[in-house]
Amino acid sequence: MTVHLFGGKHFDRAAELRSNLTEIGEILSGPAARLVPMHRGRSLLQPGEPMTAALVTTDAWRDIDSTRCVLLGRHLEYYCFAVDMSHVPEEQLAEHGQLADLRLSGPMLGDDDAALLACARALLLWHREHQFCGRCGARNEAHGGGHVLRCSDPDCGRSQFPRIDPAIIVLVDDGPRCLLGRQASWPPQRYSTIAGFVEPGESLEDAVAREVGEETGVRVKDPIYHSSQPWPFPSSLMLGFHAQAADFNITLRDEELEDARWFTRRDILDGVIKLPPRVSISFRLIEEWFNRGDEGALLQRLPSAGSW
Ligand SMILES: [Zn+2]
Repeated sequence: MTVHLFGGKHFDRAAELRSNLTEIGEILSGPAARLVPMHRGRSLLQPGEPMTAALVTTDAWRDIDSTRCVLLGRHLEYYCFAVDMSHVPEEQLAEHGQLADLRLSGPMLGDDDAALLACARALLLWHREHQFCGRCGARNEAHGGGHVLRCSDPDCGRSQFPRIDPAIIVLVDDGPRCLLGRQASWPPQRYSTIAGFVEPGESLEDAVAREVGEETGVRVKDPIYHSSQPWPFPSSLMLGFHAQAADFNITLRDEELEDARWFTRRDILDGVIKLPPRVSISFRLIEEWFNRGDEGALLQRLPSAGSW
């Protein structure tokens, strides 16, 4: 099984506790509770090799509102709760760690900590963006250890569950060449696989064919699922595919890409383009295709690969 950064079963989500408010309250006021804070979208980290998630004792913020704490699960010997501390001055968190953008610092974290912080970030952003009921406008209240938001108006009572936006990401190849594209805002030479959100009423395979067609004009056949990567920026789940090209003419049909081209393994060996970061699902898709070639080179070992 291919596991990517932010994914993998790296901590116990302790879902059996979510419906037990009394037990959650007892854990939160006990010695095994640790807070996983986020401040205005940034995660709190402890510097080191590797970096780790800063786990803060509840003594640090005794007046914290327990309804704002989202149960993440068991990590190390602790019960961890995500909490949004955006309302306090940044300096109050500085003594507990260093605030950082998880997208940039994720590769420097151990797998367990990266997965824990990704989960914390996704849930807290969902809470922040869904404070009110989408049906009647009344305030939502947290239930289920923070994994359910329910409308506070008893006549409505609508429940919402954490939002996840599925997006396909696909490496199309014709055997010796693969299809990569670039956006105008990217640094020169940077190319990546084709990606886009799944639309309502579509299967994943439909989305693969549509996105590749819209962005490059190339028709694909036989999409094959590869692996997935949680991408909590803010709420995506990247679903990776390989697909074969059914034709080869590139026509940029929408505004999404500035350029799309077919690249050979030799182009990549020669460093003609810069590939996505090594921890991304995009790199892994390119890698799997590249390593199938006759060149005998392994993409992970190429110093020029993955140099964004
Ligand atoms: Zn409502």
